[in-house]
Amino acid sequence: ENGHDRIDYVFKVVVIGDSAVGKTQLLSRFAKNEFRFDSKSTIGVEFQTRTVSIAGRVIKAQIWDTAGQERYRAVTSAYYRGALGAMLVYDITKRQSFDHLAKWVEELRAHANHSIVIMLIGNKADLAGDMRAVPMENAVDFAQDQGLFFSETSALSGDNVDAAFLRLLEEIYGVI
Ligand code: GDP
Ligand code: MG
Repeated sequence: ENGHDRIDYVFKVVVIGDSAVGKTQLLSRFAKNEFRFDSKSTIGVEFQTRTVSIAGRVIKAQIWDTAGQERYRAVTSAYYRGALGAMLVYDITKRQSFDHLAKWVEELRAHANHSIVIMLIGNKADLAGDMRAVPMENAVDFAQDQGLFFSETSALSGDNVDAAFLRLLEEIYGVI
């Protein structure tokens, strides 16, 4: 998606959630259409970008990745500064990553812009068959309670990844 010679808006989006839920892989899938089987738990890149068109506007999504700080609950307020959107990710095969969501929402409410648009993501949907630990209804209920958008995705297969990011960017565009 190069060939855009003008950028109308830059949207900062942060990706958060427990360690190993697939945040970095989601980002690589959306930004580069890649899934890295050899990736270490963290690649030291601060953010990746992808430029998309929404309603005839050219929008550069600047998507920030934690550099492993989520492991120590040491994501700083600088990370959230200026963010218009957040991808809040859990792993549908790890109940604990879902049970921690309330803490992550609290953190967003404490550190991020109050009008931040939040998309809840249940990742690793490719493992839904025998390994699912979080029923989709639980996530739908949580998202409704907290006023979040919601989608299940697979960074591995790519299912719903573009759609979820694009939905978030559209919703941001709708509120700016
Ligand atoms: P992060 O710590 O949240 O950034 O998680 P990573 O992106 O590093 O992914 C953690 C592990 O989960 C890695 O072994 C990935 O290959 C794996 N993973 C990430 N996304 C998916 C997915 O959609 N499906 C499956 N089956 N594995 C995934
Ligand atoms: Mg990571």
